[in-house]
Amino acid sequence: MTDISATRLDIALGFTIPARHARGRLVRIGPLLDTILAGHGYPPVIERVLAEALMLAALLGSTLKDEAGQLTLQAQAEGGVIDLLVADYKAGEMRGYVRFDADRLAEAPVDPSLFALFGKGYLAITFDQMVSGERYQGIVPLEGASLAEAAESYFGQSEQLPSLVKLSMRRLPDGRHIGGGMLIQHLPEGEEGRDRIHTRLDHPEWDHVRALAQTLTLDELTDISLEMDRVLWRLFNEEDEVRTLAAVPLSRGCRCNAEHIRSVIARFPTDERAEMADEAGEIHVDCAFCAIRFSLALESFAA
Ligand SMILES: [Zn+2]
Repeated sequence: MTDISATRLDIALGFTIPARHARGRLVRIGPLLDTILAGHGYPPVIERVLAEALMLAALLGSTLKDEAGQLTLQAQAEGGVIDLLVADYKAGEMRGYVRFDADRLAEAPVDPSLFALFGKGYLAITFDQMVSGERYQGIVPLEGASLAEAAESYFGQSEQLPSLVKLSMRRLPDGRHIGGGMLIQHLPEGEEGRDRIHTRLDHPEWDHVRALAQTLTLDELTDISLEMDRVLWRLFNEEDEVRTLAAVPLSRGCRCNAEHIRSVIARFPTDERAEMADEAGEIHVDCAFCAIRFSLALESFAA
């Protein structure tokens, strides 16, 4: 078996190809994915789609200029297996969960399409900039063959930002999960304040980059014997220059904790707080991301 201790996992690596006006991100996740999935006990189909959403969140989140910024993906859907999926990224910390119908999943095909999974649904992509306090949200229909394809069409159509997205997950024989993702985007000359790409008739530079990037297989994305810088070399070694940025470490993280929950509940009026408690005098608050329940004794709050 491949020794994965020598392979860098749980990182996002940014790169640019200056002469082609392209920028990209590669992500490889392992331990953080195992930690997130271990808390939930999802069936493999659900694990896969959550892994893809987490990688997409990491790819997009790590492009935020504001390092404390947050990126949230939320898929809401009707008529499929999944009715809610959330994955978010904040300063390298990732978390996510899925709400699904086990009976519908049992009736779904072994390798369900995006439509079988979500039915009629939308993916909301929300960028929160902490420094400026700005929030920006884009909404994309969950259409196409995969989450990656839905994200591509969002960037291509809504943002006029031609993009290529690849997402892949594999399960090692010992049960560990490896996720790999790639995002490449064409930034027309003068990324900001100039004409967007749709005002131009053709963009051969992008066609070239896209054709090269397309040759990366889903197996290679999760092949831990192939380091990420080797992936870049394998794709773009004939380009004049590929600049890599400092790798961003990724980890599993959630903002829930007993102290924070206590401070929120403490702000409620005494009578409302009493209504929250069960017969045993305990107030329960669930964190869907962590699949854990916080229980606080009503009497531990000042009357
Ligand atoms: Zn939590």
